[in-house]
Amino acid sequence: MIYHYSMCPTKQKHALEMQINAHMHVSGKRGVLSHLLDFILPPVCIHCHIPIAVHGHLCAPCWQKINFITHPLCDTTGLPLPYDSEPITPELRKNRQKQFSAQALAYPPDYDRARAVALFDDVLRALIHGLKYGDRREGLGLFGRWLVVAGRELLEDTDLIMPVPLYRGRLWQRRFNQSALLSHEINRLTGVPVEVLALKRHRATRSQVGLSEHARRANVTGAFTLSQKKRNQINGQNILLIDDVLTTGSTVDACTRTLKKAGAARVDVLVLARAGNLASKL
Ligand SMILES: [Zn+2]
Repeated sequence: MIYHYSMCPTKQKHALEMQINAHMHVSGKRGVLSHLLDFILPPVCIHCHIPIAVHGHLCAPCWQKINFITHPLCDTTGLPLPYDSEPITPELRKNRQKQFSAQALAYPPDYDRARAVALFDDVLRALIHGLKYGDRREGLGLFGRWLVVAGRELLEDTDLIMPVPLYRGRLWQRRFNQSALLSHEINRLTGVPVEVLALKRHRATRSQVGLSEHARRANVTGAFTLSQKKRNQINGQNILLIDDVLTTGSTVDACTRTLKKAGAARVDVLVLARAGNLASKL
Protein backbone atom coordinates (compact mmCIF):
# COMPACT_ATOMS: atom_id res chain seq x y z
CA MET A 1 0.00 0.00 0.00
CA ILE A 2 1.26 3.47 -0.86
CA TYR A 3 0.93 6.18 1.76
CA HIS A 4 -0.27 9.41 0.10
CA TYR A 5 0.26 12.75 1.85
CA SER A 6 -2.73 14.10 -0.07
CA MET A 7 -5.06 11.71 1.75
CA CYS A 8 -7.42 12.95 4.47
CA PRO A 9 -6.22 12.11 8.01
CA THR A 10 -8.66 9.21 8.35
CA LYS A 11 -7.47 7.66 5.10
CA GLN A 12 -3.86 8.24 6.10
CA LYS A 13 -4.51 6.38 9.32
CA HIS A 14 -6.19 3.52 7.51
CA ALA A 15 -3.37 3.26 4.95
CA LEU A 16 -0.76 3.32 7.68
CA GLU A 17 -2.69 0.75 9.72
CA MET A 18 -2.75 -1.56 6.70
CA GLN A 19 1.00 -1.19 6.24
CA ILE A 20 1.74 -1.77 9.90
CA ASN A 21 -0.68 -4.71 10.13
CA ALA A 22 1.04 -6.29 7.12
CA HIS A 23 4.43 -5.73 8.75
CA MET A 24 3.22 -7.08 12.11
CA HIS A 25 1.98 -10.20 10.34
CA VAL A 26 5.51 -10.80 9.10
CA SER A 27 7.52 -9.68 12.13
CA GLY A 28 5.17 -10.41 15.03
CA LYS A 29 6.24 -7.09 16.65
CA ARG A 30 2.64 -6.15 17.40
CA GLY A 31 3.21 -4.31 20.66
CA VAL A 32 5.89 -1.86 19.54
CA LEU A 33 4.35 -1.04 16.17
CA SER A 34 0.88 -0.74 17.60
CA HIS A 35 2.15 1.86 20.11
CA LEU A 36 4.05 3.59 17.28
CA LEU A 37 0.84 3.84 15.24
CA ASP A 38 -1.06 5.26 18.23
CA PHE A 39 1.71 7.82 18.71
CA ILE A 40 1.72 8.95 15.06
CA LEU A 41 -2.03 8.81 14.52
CA PRO A 42 -3.87 8.51 17.85
CA PRO A 43 -7.12 6.52 17.74
CA VAL A 44 -10.23 8.62 17.22
CA CYS A 45 -13.97 7.86 17.05
CA ILE A 46 -14.83 6.80 13.48
CA HIS A 47 -17.82 9.17 13.52
CA CYS A 48 -17.06 12.32 15.54
CA HIS A 49 -13.23 11.98 15.63
CA ILE A 50 -12.76 12.63 19.37
CA PRO A 51 -9.80 10.71 20.87
CA ILE A 52 -10.63 7.19 22.10
CA ALA A 53 -8.67 4.15 23.30
CA VAL A 54 -8.62 1.96 20.17
CA HIS A 55 -8.65 2.37 16.38
CA GLY A 56 -11.74 1.62 14.28
CA HIS A 57 -14.27 2.17 17.05
CA LEU A 58 -16.96 4.58 18.23
CA CYS A 59 -16.84 6.79 21.32
CA ALA A 60 -19.46 6.05 24.00
CA PRO A 61 -21.84 8.92 23.05
CA CYS A 62 -21.81 7.90 19.35
CA TRP A 63 -22.28 4.23 20.28
CA GLN A 64 -25.38 5.20 22.27
CA LYS A 65 -26.84 6.77 19.13
CA ILE A 66 -26.81 3.43 17.26
CA ASN A 67 -30.32 1.99 17.53
CA PHE A 68 -29.48 -1.71 17.59
CA ILE A 69 -32.32 -4.04 16.63
CA THR A 70 -32.87 -6.59 19.39
CA HIS A 71 -35.26 -9.45 20.18
CA PRO A 72 -38.17 -10.01 20.00
CA LEU A 73 -38.05 -10.03 16.19
CA CYS A 74 -40.24 -11.18 13.33
CA ASP A 75 -38.65 -14.49 12.28
CA THR A 76 -39.06 -13.69 8.59
CA THR A 77 -38.34 -9.99 8.17
CA GLY A 78 -36.20 -9.45 11.29
CA LEU A 79 -38.27 -6.38 12.17
CA PRO A 80 -38.43 -5.62 15.89
CA LEU A 81 -41.84 -6.61 17.27
CA PRO A 82 -43.60 -3.86 19.21
CA TYR A 83 -43.99 -5.62 22.55
CA ASP A 84 -41.69 -6.61 25.38
CA SER A 85 -40.62 -10.13 26.03
CA GLU A 86 -38.77 -11.73 28.91
CA PRO A 87 -35.03 -12.05 28.20
CA ILE A 88 -34.42 -15.49 26.73
CA THR A 89 -31.29 -17.61 26.46
CA PRO A 90 -30.04 -18.82 23.04
CA GLU A 91 -31.22 -22.33 23.97
CA LEU A 92 -34.75 -21.18 24.79
CA ARG A 93 -34.74 -18.98 21.69
CA LYS A 94 -34.01 -22.05 19.57
CA ASN A 95 -36.99 -23.94 20.92
CA ARG A 96 -39.51 -21.14 21.17
CA GLN A 97 -42.38 -20.72 18.74
CA LYS A 98 -41.67 -18.50 15.76
CA GLN A 99 -43.14 -15.00 15.76
CA PHE A 100 -44.17 -13.10 12.65
CA SER A 101 -45.00 -9.47 11.91
CA ALA A 102 -48.30 -8.60 10.22
CA GLN A 103 -46.32 -7.49 7.15
CA ALA A 104 -44.58 -10.86 6.82
CA LEU A 105 -47.91 -12.70 7.04
CA ALA A 106 -49.77 -10.38 4.65
CA TYR A 107 -46.96 -9.93 2.09
CA PRO A 108 -44.43 -12.76 2.51
CA PRO A 109 -41.12 -11.75 0.92
CA ASP A 110 -39.28 -13.96 -1.57
CA TYR A 111 -36.26 -14.24 0.75
CA ASP A 112 -36.46 -16.65 3.69
CA ARG A 113 -35.18 -14.56 6.61
CA ALA A 114 -33.66 -11.11 7.01
CA ARG A 115 -31.69 -9.62 9.89
CA ALA A 116 -30.26 -6.12 10.37
CA VAL A 117 -27.79 -4.70 12.86
CA ALA A 118 -29.58 -1.42 13.59
CA LEU A 119 -31.96 1.23 12.31
CA PHE A 120 -30.82 3.43 9.41
CA ASP A 121 -30.67 6.72 11.27
CA ASP A 122 -28.37 9.22 12.94
CA VAL A 123 -24.79 7.92 13.42
CA LEU A 124 -25.22 4.68 11.47
CA ARG A 125 -26.67 6.52 8.45
CA ALA A 126 -23.64 8.85 8.46
CA LEU A 127 -21.22 5.91 8.79
CA ILE A 128 -22.85 4.05 5.88
CA HIS A 129 -22.82 7.17 3.69
CA GLY A 130 -19.14 7.61 4.59
CA LEU A 131 -18.35 4.05 3.52
CA LYS A 132 -20.44 4.17 0.34
CA TYR A 133 -19.74 7.61 -1.02
CA GLY A 134 -16.58 8.67 0.84
CA ASP A 135 -14.60 5.41 0.73
CA ARG A 136 -14.28 5.63 4.53
CA ARG A 137 -13.27 2.08 5.42
CA GLU A 138 -12.04 2.49 8.98
CA GLY A 139 -15.34 1.13 10.37
CA LEU A 140 -15.30 -2.08 8.34
CA GLY A 141 -13.90 -4.23 11.17
CA LEU A 142 -16.58 -2.99 13.55
CA PHE A 143 -19.34 -3.42 10.93
CA GLY A 144 -18.17 -7.00 10.31
CA ARG A 145 -18.35 -7.86 14.01
CA TRP A 146 -21.83 -6.31 14.28
CA LEU A 147 -23.04 -8.28 11.24
CA VAL A 148 -21.73 -11.57 12.64
CA VAL A 149 -23.63 -10.99 15.90
CA ALA A 150 -26.87 -9.83 14.21
CA GLY A 151 -26.70 -12.65 11.66
CA ARG A 152 -25.59 -15.43 14.00
CA GLU A 153 -28.62 -17.67 13.43
CA LEU A 154 -28.47 -17.13 9.64
CA LEU A 155 -24.72 -17.79 9.46
CA GLU A 156 -25.18 -21.15 11.24
CA ASP A 157 -27.11 -22.34 8.16
CA THR A 158 -25.11 -20.55 5.44
CA ASP A 159 -23.11 -22.35 2.72
CA LEU A 160 -22.18 -19.28 0.68
CA ILE A 161 -22.11 -15.53 1.33
CA MET A 162 -22.92 -13.28 -1.66
CA PRO A 163 -22.99 -9.47 -1.80
CA VAL A 164 -25.80 -7.67 -3.61
CA PRO A 165 -23.96 -6.59 -6.79
CA LEU A 166 -23.62 -3.12 -8.25
CA TYR A 167 -24.08 -2.46 -11.97
CA ARG A 168 -20.64 -2.36 -13.57
CA GLY A 169 -21.02 1.34 -14.51
CA ARG A 170 -21.62 2.24 -10.88
CA LEU A 171 -18.84 -0.11 -9.76
CA TRP A 172 -16.49 1.69 -12.13
CA GLN A 173 -17.59 5.06 -10.75
CA ARG A 174 -17.35 4.08 -7.09
CA ARG A 175 -14.39 1.67 -7.58
CA PHE A 176 -15.70 -0.78 -4.97
CA ASN A 177 -18.89 -2.50 -3.88
CA GLN A 178 -19.53 -1.73 -0.19
CA SER A 179 -21.57 -4.95 0.15
CA ALA A 180 -18.60 -6.99 -1.14
CA LEU A 181 -16.34 -5.30 1.45
CA LEU A 182 -18.82 -6.25 4.20
CA SER A 183 -19.03 -9.83 2.83
CA HIS A 184 -15.24 -10.20 2.99
CA GLU A 185 -15.26 -8.98 6.60
CA ILE A 186 -17.83 -11.64 7.55
CA ASN A 187 -15.78 -14.27 5.71
CA ARG A 188 -12.64 -13.16 7.58
CA LEU A 189 -14.39 -13.48 10.95
CA THR A 190 -16.34 -16.70 10.36
CA GLY A 191 -14.60 -18.59 7.55
CA VAL A 192 -17.93 -18.99 5.69
CA PRO A 193 -17.05 -18.91 1.95
CA VAL A 194 -17.82 -15.76 -0.02
CA GLU A 195 -18.59 -15.56 -3.75
CA VAL A 196 -18.58 -12.07 -5.25
CA LEU A 197 -18.69 -12.83 -8.98
CA ALA A 198 -21.64 -15.20 -9.39
CA LEU A 199 -24.52 -12.75 -9.04
CA LYS A 200 -24.50 -9.84 -11.48
CA ARG A 201 -26.63 -6.75 -11.99
CA HIS A 202 -26.84 -6.86 -15.78
CA ARG A 203 -28.68 -3.60 -16.30
CA ALA A 204 -28.49 -0.22 -14.63
CA THR A 205 -31.33 0.52 -12.24
CA ARG A 206 -32.52 3.91 -10.97
CA SER A 207 -31.65 4.71 -7.38
CA GLN A 208 -34.38 3.23 -5.19
CA VAL A 209 -34.40 6.36 -3.01
CA GLY A 210 -37.75 8.15 -3.19
CA LEU A 211 -39.53 5.42 -5.19
CA SER A 212 -42.78 3.85 -4.00
CA GLU A 213 -42.78 0.19 -2.99
CA HIS A 214 -44.42 -0.78 -6.32
CA ALA A 215 -41.93 1.32 -8.35
CA ARG A 216 -38.98 -0.17 -6.44
CA ARG A 217 -40.10 -3.69 -7.32
CA ALA A 218 -40.57 -2.79 -11.00
CA ASN A 219 -37.19 -1.03 -11.04
CA VAL A 220 -35.20 -4.13 -10.04
CA THR A 221 -37.27 -6.97 -11.51
CA GLY A 222 -35.12 -8.84 -14.03
CA ALA A 223 -32.04 -6.76 -13.20
CA PHE A 224 -30.01 -9.67 -11.81
CA THR A 225 -28.50 -12.67 -13.49
CA LEU A 226 -26.07 -15.45 -12.63
CA SER A 227 -22.73 -16.08 -14.23
CA GLN A 228 -22.95 -19.22 -16.37
CA LYS A 229 -19.63 -20.46 -14.95
CA LYS A 230 -20.75 -20.12 -11.33
CA ARG A 231 -24.37 -21.27 -11.76
CA ASN A 232 -23.58 -24.85 -10.62
CA GLN A 233 -22.28 -23.55 -7.28
CA ILE A 234 -25.78 -22.33 -6.38
CA ASN A 235 -27.80 -25.52 -6.70
CA GLY A 236 -28.96 -26.83 -3.31
CA GLN A 237 -27.00 -24.19 -1.38
CA ASN A 238 -28.09 -21.93 1.47
CA ILE A 239 -27.12 -18.44 0.38
CA LEU A 240 -26.69 -15.40 2.62
CA LEU A 241 -27.09 -12.11 0.71
CA ILE A 242 -25.24 -9.13 2.16
CA ASP A 243 -26.20 -5.47 1.64
CA ASP A 244 -25.64 -2.21 3.48
CA VAL A 245 -29.27 -1.06 3.81
CA LEU A 246 -32.61 -2.87 3.51
CA THR A 247 -35.64 -0.68 2.77
CA THR A 248 -38.63 -2.39 1.15
CA GLY A 249 -36.68 -5.53 0.28
CA SER A 250 -37.38 -5.22 -3.50
CA THR A 251 -33.69 -5.53 -4.42
CA VAL A 252 -32.94 -8.57 -2.26
CA ASP A 253 -36.23 -10.16 -3.37
CA ALA A 254 -35.16 -9.76 -7.02
CA CYS A 255 -31.77 -11.35 -6.19
CA THR A 256 -33.57 -14.15 -4.32
CA ARG A 257 -35.80 -14.96 -7.30
CA THR A 258 -32.72 -15.23 -9.54
CA LEU A 259 -30.89 -17.47 -7.03
CA LYS A 260 -33.90 -19.72 -6.38
CA LYS A 261 -34.46 -20.17 -10.12
CA ALA A 262 -30.92 -21.58 -10.20
CA GLY A 263 -31.80 -24.03 -7.41
CA ALA A 264 -30.73 -22.21 -4.20
CA ALA A 265 -32.30 -24.06 -1.27
CA ARG A 266 -32.59 -21.00 0.96
CA VAL A 267 -31.80 -17.30 0.59
CA ASP A 268 -31.35 -15.23 3.76
CA VAL A 269 -30.45 -11.55 3.96
CA LEU A 270 -28.11 -9.76 6.35
CA VAL A 271 -27.70 -5.97 6.31
CA LEU A 272 -26.15 -3.26 8.42
CA ALA A 273 -29.24 -1.08 8.59
CA ARG A 274 -32.99 -1.27 8.24
CA ALA A 275 -34.61 1.80 6.68
CA GLY A 276 -38.15 2.96 5.99
CA ASN A 277 -41.23 3.38 8.09
CA LEU A 278 -40.92 0.28 10.26
CA ALA A 279 -44.12 0.96 12.23
CA SER A 280 -46.18 0.48 9.04
CA LYS A 281 -44.64 -2.96 8.54
CA LEU A 282 -45.53 -4.51 11.90
ZN1 LIG B 1 -17.91 9.71 18.50
